[in-house]
Amino acid sequence: MKVVLENLTKKFPERGRKARGEVTAVSDMSVEIPDGKLIGLLGPSGCGKSTALNLLCGLLKPTDGRIFFGEEDVTNLPAEKRGVGMVFQNYALYPHLTVRQNIVFPLENLRGKEKLSKEEMQRRAMEVAKLVQIDELMERKPGELSGGQQQRVAIARALVKMPRILLMDEPLSNLDARLRLQTREEIRRIQRETKITTVFVTHDQEEAMSISDMIVVMNRGVVQQIGKPQEVYDRPVNLFVAKFLGTPPINVFRGQIRQGMLYIGKDAVLRVQGCADREVFAGIRPEGFVLHPQGALTCHLNGVEVLGRDISVVSTNEACENTVIRSIISAESGVDTGSGTVRFHVKPEKVHIFDRETQERIP
Ligand code: ATP
Repeated sequence: MKVVLENLTKKFPERGRKARGEVTAVSDMSVEIPDGKLIGLLGPSGCGKSTALNLLCGLLKPTDGRIFFGEEDVTNLPAEKRGVGMVFQNYALYPHLTVRQNIVFPLENLRGKEKLSKEEMQRRAMEVAKLVQIDELMERKPGELSGGQQQRVAIARALVKMPRILLMDEPLSNLDARLRLQTREEIRRIQRETKITTVFVTHDQEEAMSISDMIVVMNRGVVQQIGKPQEVYDRPVNLFVAKFLGTPPINVFRGQIRQGMLYIGKDAVLRVQGCADREVFAGIRPEGFVLHPQGALTCHLNGVEVLGRDISVVSTNEACENTVIRSIISAESGVDTGSGTVRFHVKPEKVHIFDRETQERIP
């Protein structure tokens, strides 16, 4: 089911003793989520992700704007009538019930014409348990399961009512690194099989990039950019997005555009077309450096770290306030650590230039 957020705004009265004003948690948010896709809602703590999710599920009412599920305007529909499945960070399972009872629970509360027979409830519970691969654990209690298995139970429980959309709020945060990777792949598989339109909230950019068909990057309640993960990584619209995506993070330098050249310190590192002279921030991805004896950017070498196939070269550029540069280059490139100096060419497609004042992308 297609989901549309139209100019959604949510303001809260400010909290605390000296509070007078309002906090705008979500500001004029417009997003169209295509049917059957998984979108990652991504941003730092406090950027409004949970508020957006609570608006979608109906736990909060917007101050302004509308929400549509398909053609239906659900803005004023109460949460229980929206047909939304929720998965939380802390699983929220009933500890005294078995896995089977936990999954069946949402079906037992159905009333009227939605009421199901006992056999139908069991059949559905088994179906979703098989989907998330916990069908052999049905008689266990949550305390007898690993974190990853508990999260699968929570996903099964969210799916058993056949929701119109699925919302996941940091579902992997309580898992250790290995389980997080594994469960993330599981969520992707389950979403592809069920084709339920899913919104996945996370502050972890790598997680969002790897799992999503589309990401929505937010900052301070405002949508910064919407697009396929690779598109957003390759063409960030502003400095915030450029810095938020990528590990190791993008290297940011103060620079100038003069007569069609990008200067970092005194080094003319790249020809840029169609840009008037001005002060800029130049962002260069770690993979955007190429060691070269005649490279345009001269740096002082601080250290080299072997990462297996690649090496990480840490250096500083003196003319540019000793900005530390983290570059990832192929181990075969061979760094001459003797001279204390390294020179780089930069790959044009890995350089992003932003106006110093507005921090918006140019050109
Ligand atoms: P986190 O990742 O830390 O959970 P988030 O991106 O989910 O953060 P929100 O919880 O949506 O962010 O909060 C957005 C902003 O709105 C924050 O500044 C927060 O303090 C504020 N806020 C959220 N809920 C309320 C509330 N009930 N009353 C007042 N302010 C609120």
